Amino acid sequence: GLGLDDPGRTYRLGIMGGTFDPIHIGHLACAEQVREAYSLDAVIFVPAGNPVFKRDQRVTDAADRLAMCRLAVRSNPAFDASAIEIERGGDTYTVDTLRQLRAHYPENVELYFITGADAVFSIVKWRESSAIAKLAKLIGVTRPGYALSEEKKRFLAEQSDFSVSYTEITALAISSSDLRARVRAGKSIRYLTMQGVFDYVNERGLYGE
Ligand code: ATP
Ligand code: MG
Repeated sequence: GLGLDDPGRTYRLGIMGGTFDPIHIGHLACAEQVREAYSLDAVIFVPAGNPVFKRDQRVTDAADRLAMCRLAVRSNPAFDASAIEIERGGDTYTVDTLRQLRAHYPENVELYFITGADAVFSIVKWRESSAIAKLAKLIGVTRPGYALSEEKKRFLAEQSDFSVSYTEITALAISSSDLRARVRAGKSIRYLTMQGVFDYVNERGLYGE
């Protein structure tokens, strides 16, 4: 476990949601740099069971996406992967996940939901976004190709009761879409993800034709 079990102190737990189809070094470096910047004690990666925003796309089996997250976090004692969204079944809503985590951890564990610049401003449109705002603090990170403009920041501040902060991380123009396209085209994804994930994709023949 992550060892967040001393009731006498406060813990900060980061939550990184996503499809992770597959997880890549952009996700991992993001979580690590946010962990450092916000003194988080741990970060959990929570692969979505049935991502509602990707209904029109083919998504890899949840068991494979979870297995790859587990392989990717293994070398970092502050990282973990959780099956809660996958085990819950049905459509995946962040508010349900945060409620479940809130019920699981005692009050001395504070929740920080980490999201990239492409997702952070759409959070006001997510189901029960004001409930999300009460359950977790939001951290928006920079991502190449998606602007964290002052105008959008002001919009989010005015439209919602989110406690949100923004942080600049190393720019890695990497996406799961690009990794999938590379594999499909017969190109290498070595070094764009962890070795264990690279091996898993090859062994299972994921993302081929
Ligand atoms: P896809 O191309 O399939 O949408 P993705 O690379 O965007 O995949 P997701 O699983 O959709 O990965 O994203 C999970 C979270 O990680 C989102 O909050 C997203 O903004 C963030 N994220 C993904 N890649 C990066 C990156 N290179 N830099 C910063 N944040 C990222
Ligand atoms: Mg994405």
